[in-house]
Amino acid sequence: MAELVFFSGTMDCGKSTLALQMDHNHAARGRTGLVFTRDDRAGTDRISSRLGLERVAREVHDETDFGDVVLREHAAGRPIDYLVCDEAQFYSPEQVEQLARLVDEMAVDVFAFGITADFRTRLFPGAARLIELADRVEVLQVRSLCWCGARATHNARTVDGVMVVEGEQVVVGDTGGAASIGYEVLCRRHHMRRMTASGARARTEHGATVLL
Ligand SMILES: [Zn+2]
Repeated sequence: MAELVFFSGTMDCGKSTLALQMDHNHAARGRTGLVFTRDDRAGTDRISSRLGLERVAREVHDETDFGDVVLREHAAGRPIDYLVCDEAQFYSPEQVEQLARLVDEMAVDVFAFGITADFRTRLFPGAARLIELADRVEVLQVRSLCWCGARATHNARTVDGVMVVEGEQVVVGDTGGAASIGYEVLCRRHHMRRMTASGARARTEHGATVLL
């Protein structure tokens, strides 16, 4: 039975590395797959991992229809066995539904990888639809740590070094504006208190009483 599996984790948990490994494992068994990504940090058409692995991938756009893509491959004599979908939180709910239909109607395995919640701790629409539709959700073991040493479970956004909890859900890379946008993973306690590593350092240096 084909499956729709959603592998979820925080930003630094090694999702892309696992996505590349998944593709490698299935390809090594002689299966034919397609690898997709959206707004990856390496720019378009690639999946890159923080460990330096990289692979050519198809970029998902707003107008991408996964059903059409797979049907075109079949028509060209390349039946597809599986899809690896990285950065799946950025896919639209409709695209996630297309993936579910591929599993059910064409027996294509879909391995989706993504983060669940944004810097405001709100679910991405694509991640929400994946949680609703997936046969399985695998929460990737968190390997990244908050600056305090606790498991990092939440994504924080900083603007010019200051943590923010409001703003556009998706801002990728250099926006061309004056503000410098960064991301950091934190434990929930420090996400709720809006304390990033630099914020904690600044407080300590000023001799303030810090309740960690
Ligand atoms: Zn912490």
